[in-house]
Amino acid sequence: MSTAGQKIDEVEAAVERLVSQSLADLRADFPALDQQVNGHPLAYLDNAATTHKPRQVIEAVANYYERDNSNVHRGVHELSQRATLAFEAAREKVRAFINAASKDEIVFTRGTTEAINLVANAWGGEGVAAGDEILITELEHHSNIVPWQMLAQRSGAVVKVAPINDAGELELEALADLLSPRTRMVALNYVSNTLGSINPVAEVVRLAHDAGALVLVDAAQATPHLAVDVQELGCDFLAFSGHKVYGPTGIGALFGRAELLEAMPPWQGGGDMIEQVSFSGSSYAHPPARFEAGTPNVAGVVGLGAAIDYLECAGIERVATHEHELLNYAEGRLREIPGLRIVGTAAEKTGAHSFVVEGVHPHDIGTVLDSFGVAIRAGHHCTQPLMERLGLVATARASFALYSNHDDVDRLIDALLKLTELFGDG
Ligand code: PMP
Repeated sequence: MSTAGQKIDEVEAAVERLVSQSLADLRADFPALDQQVNGHPLAYLDNAATTHKPRQVIEAVANYYERDNSNVHRGVHELSQRATLAFEAAREKVRAFINAASKDEIVFTRGTTEAINLVANAWGGEGVAAGDEILITELEHHSNIVPWQMLAQRSGAVVKVAPINDAGELELEALADLLSPRTRMVALNYVSNTLGSINPVAEVVRLAHDAGALVLVDAAQATPHLAVDVQELGCDFLAFSGHKVYGPTGIGALFGRAELLEAMPPWQGGGDMIEQVSFSGSSYAHPPARFEAGTPNVAGVVGLGAAIDYLECAGIERVATHEHELLNYAEGRLREIPGLRIVGTAAEKTGAHSFVVEGVHPHDIGTVLDSFGVAIRAGHHCTQPLMERLGLVATARASFALYSNHDDVDRLIDALLKLTELFGDG
């Protein structure tokens, strides 16, 4: 049994190892990457859908179940106290990861989708009136469209949509024109999951605040690739998912400015979110507990904490530089493929290239590439209105992570060349 001192030494040694390793060496930390698919080594380029997990995250989750498994915030016994400490320590890691002012501004959710639904219900339930406006953009994922449409249906509010140009960049002037005294919320993604466009979020926040509106940032595709700082952005809410930053599925976080969370009613009732319950009525706990009814995903939270530790050791700036270089390399190589068109050519991009190949349905691209062990995504990427705007039904998308390398891109290109041979002469 290791003592606390030994444990600290072990952790420090692991951190030292991570920090001193090159990103290329870190690939070995991800067991799922080391496998054959359809007789080929896996080239995993579907990271915008979900990332693989390093051993450090898998072990943190296993250790939690093996040693500390217990309910949080309730028991006085040793295991419950350990679980609670680990749970709250992870909240502090999330706070630091996005530079929130206080860890009370961090609510654990199932992911980005649940975080947005939480705001649309709890914030939206209070005082969004008929005729009020919610402004989103053409780039949004369904999870940043549908909850607002549902709120609009309940309240009589109106959902307006800011346009993009053909490159997939937000039209800022048009967005500014759509802001009005009735705009209550501007909800937009930081990075488009389909096109990889990086939105000028700080600028949008300034415009929205000048118009008296709040801003919710869907950072699901930003946190894996960029340093995200909620205070620098000035946003009011921000959501992200653990599974896209090398953490477990089913866990994510909502940041909300303290005074906003404090003023919001709960959206789910149950254990852990109350102050006092009687049959004549109940009073509610302060945030973040007010928004965390029921037994939380403790193992997920612990795994998310380990994932944030991992990403910080890898160095988000170093990851961003590496991925940027790879994105450029991939762009150059994709242009070698006859009949291929990159969809989404914003000046500021990260994480992904969407593309179409003349005469080949994106699903066929995905299927043929899979037969060569190359995993990409094909479809509407949960952005059907964006597809409609682009005049497409689907695209193929290759998306990158810190462990992606030139070999993955070369494998993608080789498989695409074979695809064009297959489909070439009809
Ligand atoms: N927003 C964006 C931009 C996304 O890429 C995704 C996931 N594809 C989501 C929201 C939803 O995230 P989750 O499914 O983890 O809740």
